[in-house]
Amino acid sequence: MAEITRDVLIVGAGAAGLTAANDLRKAGLSVAVLEARDRVGGRLWTDVIDGAMLEIGGQWVSPDQDALKDALEELGLSTYSRYREGESVYIGPSGELTRFTGDIFPVAPATEKIMVDLIERLDAMVAEIDPDRPWAHPDAEALDEVSFEQWLAVQTDDQEARDNIALFIAGAMLTKPAHAFSTLQALLMAASAGSFSNLVDADFILDERVVGGLQQVPLLLAERLGDDVLLNQPVRSLEWGDAGVTATTDDLTVRARFAILAHAPVLYNRISFVPPMPRRQHQLHQHLSMGFVIKVHAVYDRPFWREQGLSGTAFSPYELSHEAYDNTNHGDERGTLVGFVSDKHADGVFELSAEERKERILESLSHYYGPEAKNPVVYYESDWGSEEWTRGAYAASFDLGGLHRYGKDLRTPVGPIHFACSDLAGAGYQHVDGAIRMGHLVASDIVEASRS
Ligand code: FAD
Repeated sequence: MAEITRDVLIVGAGAAGLTAANDLRKAGLSVAVLEARDRVGGRLWTDVIDGAMLEIGGQWVSPDQDALKDALEELGLSTYSRYREGESVYIGPSGELTRFTGDIFPVAPATEKIMVDLIERLDAMVAEIDPDRPWAHPDAEALDEVSFEQWLAVQTDDQEARDNIALFIAGAMLTKPAHAFSTLQALLMAASAGSFSNLVDADFILDERVVGGLQQVPLLLAERLGDDVLLNQPVRSLEWGDAGVTATTDDLTVRARFAILAHAPVLYNRISFVPPMPRRQHQLHQHLSMGFVIKVHAVYDRPFWREQGLSGTAFSPYELSHEAYDNTNHGDERGTLVGFVSDKHADGVFELSAEERKERILESLSHYYGPEAKNPVVYYESDWGSEEWTRGAYAASFDLGGLHRYGKDLRTPVGPIHFACSDLAGAGYQHVDGAIRMGHLVASDIVEASRS
C-alpha cells in the first residue's frame, strides 16, 4: 500500500473540496484530494450524450452568487443568458394551459391575490432569518416543528395558491414533498437565495449558464492541483486524534494534520471513523437526507417552441414535469428542453420500464409545448439517485425539527476533521455558490488552526 503525507487531506473533488485545496495551497500548505469517482466535479458533470452536450448536474448561475461569479471570473470562464424571449406557460389544476409573462402564474384574480400576499409574508419572514444561523431565530423551534404544507394550510384554503407556493420550495428546490420538511427549512432555502421572491423569479434564480459547461470550474481547479488530485480513491476509513488523521483507500494511505470531508453529509457513514465520531455527529447526520429529482434533457433539431412565441419556461404543480425550460446550448442550432420530475413523481416513474418512463415524461412536456415535444433526437435522464457517491439531488436537508435541533453543529469540526459542502452552506445553500463559500471558509479555518 502506497503512503503519502500532506498538511491537509481532502475527501471529495467537488467544487467545495477543490476550492479549499486551492486556497490551502496558496496559503503554503500541502494537500491531497482523494476522489472516489474516476472524474472530478461531483454534482457538476458536463458530458456529451449521443452528440449533445448536456449539463447532467448543476448548471445555472444567479446574480447574487458572488462566490461562484468570482470563481468564474478568476478561471476565465464566460456566461450567457438563459433564453427567455416570449411567453411562459402554466397548466392549472384542470389541465388548462395559459400563456403568461412576468413571475406570477396566470391564476384567477382571487388566487393571484392570495399568492402575492403569501409571497410578501414569506419575504418578510425570510428577511428575519440569518441563513448561517436559522436556528437563532426567536421562533425557530416552532417554525421547525410545522411542515411547510401544514403552514400553508393554515394560511389559506385556496388549494391552487398553496400548490403553487409549495412548488417553489418543494418540487423546485428541496425536491421533497412539502409535508417532509419544516417551515424553518423552507425559510432557510429562501434566505440562502436572498428572498422568497428570488425563488419565484425564474429569470433571477436561473439566470445564466457557463459557455462550455459548469463542470469546467472543478476541472480547472483540479488542473491547478495536478498530481495532488487522486481519482478512484474512495476513502474507506479515517483514523483521527490529536496527532492528526490517516485516511485509507483501497490502495493508498494518506497522513495529514487535518482532514476535510467535502462531500454530501449522507455519505459520512460510508467512512469508518477510528475512533467513532462523537454522539452528537452520529445523531445529527441521521436527520439529514437527500432530495430526489430527475433532470430530463430532450434535444430537438430546432427550438420549435420559439416559433410559437414561447420562451420555453413552463410550470405546473399538476404535471409530472413540474417545471421546464429552454436549455439550448450557447451557439447551438439545435434546441434543448430541460424538465424536472421531483420526489414522489420520480419514485413513481422509476417503477416503470425505461421506455414507459420516457413516454410519460415526454407526454408531460408535450402538454406544455405541443406534440413535437414527443420526438426528441436525443433524450437523457440524469438519475443522481443511483449514483453511489451522491445518492440523490440536488442536496441534503433536515427532517422535521432537525434544523433547529442540530443545525448549529453541522460545520463544527471534530478534532482535526472539518466539513465543507454545498449542503452545509448558508448563502448559496444547495448550490455551487454555497459549495465554493464552504470551501473558502473551511480553508481559512484550517490555515488559522495550523498557525496556533
Ligand atoms: P459534490 O459535488 O457532491 O462533491 C463531493 C465529491 O466527494 C464527489 O465527487 C464524490 O464522488 C466525492 N466523495 C464522496 N464520498 C467520498 C469518499 N468516501 N471518498 C472519496 N470521495 C468521496 N447548483 C447550482 O448552483 N445551479 C444549478 O443549476 C444546480 N442544478 C443541479 C442539478 C442537479 C441534477 C444536481 C445533482 C445538482 C444541482 N445543483 C445546482 C447543485 C450543485 O451541483 C451542488 O450543490 C454542488 O455541485 C455540490 O458541490 P460539493 O463540492 O459540495 O459536493
